[in-house]
Amino acid sequence: MKIIQIKEKIINTALELQKKGLVAGTWGNISAKIDDDIIAITPSGMDYNKLKTEDIVIVDSQGNVQESNREGVKPSSELLLHLAIYDKRPDLQAIVHTHSTYASVFAVARKEIPPIIEDLVQIVGGSVEVADYALPGSSTLALNAALSLQDKMAVILASHGLVGGGRVLEEALLVCEIVEKAAKICLFGNLLGGCAVLDEEDVSVMHDFYLKHYSKPLLEED
Ligand code: 13P
Ligand code: ZN
Repeated sequence: MKIIQIKEKIINTALELQKKGLVAGTWGNISAKIDDDIIAITPSGMDYNKLKTEDIVIVDSQGNVQESNREGVKPSSELLLHLAIYDKRPDLQAIVHTHSTYASVFAVARKEIPPIIEDLVQIVGGSVEVADYALPGSSTLALNAALSLQDKMAVILASHGLVGGGRVLEEALLVCEIVEKAAKICLFGNLLGGCAVLDEEDVSVMHDFYLKHYSKPLLEED
């Protein structure tokens, strides 16, 4: 895919995040890999409605800015977070970071979302763990998040928000949407007396099915 198309897809993802109510204000950020060493990422603190392709910043895997077409436009303040995850997880090609409400409830309570429902375990591959707290934008936050992500597709940032990964941008966005739904379900389930946790072996079967079969149409759309 050409760089301009990836930039357009990042902007579409940002607008979708807004439509789905997964962001408020300018918090949150989105990136996608262009190749092994080049990444496109949203600018810091910019209104999603005003984003143009020239605002999307191009960096290398060390975080050096390769292309920034507008004066004063800086890459997302969570650039280190995105880079650390790409470094640990070569299977991921896209990352979406949100501050969505229900996932943030788990972030402030510092409680994982257990593997309680089919779509969550299919796409994430198990529970959504909470990475140890560190200041936003810091290298410690980046390392903590990459560590707690393990081999799954989402991780909660303590007292902060959520990070979802994907093989394509559509998948990273879907991960954030499904985790947000699972967080809501988990809270309501607990009000009814608790949520049954799925068997580890079943979780693995369901995740495998998603990766190898169920997600095929999503990947082909790309
Ligand atoms: P940016 O606007 O710099 O991407 O940061 C928002 C955010 O989510 C900080 O954690
Ligand atoms: Zn954030």
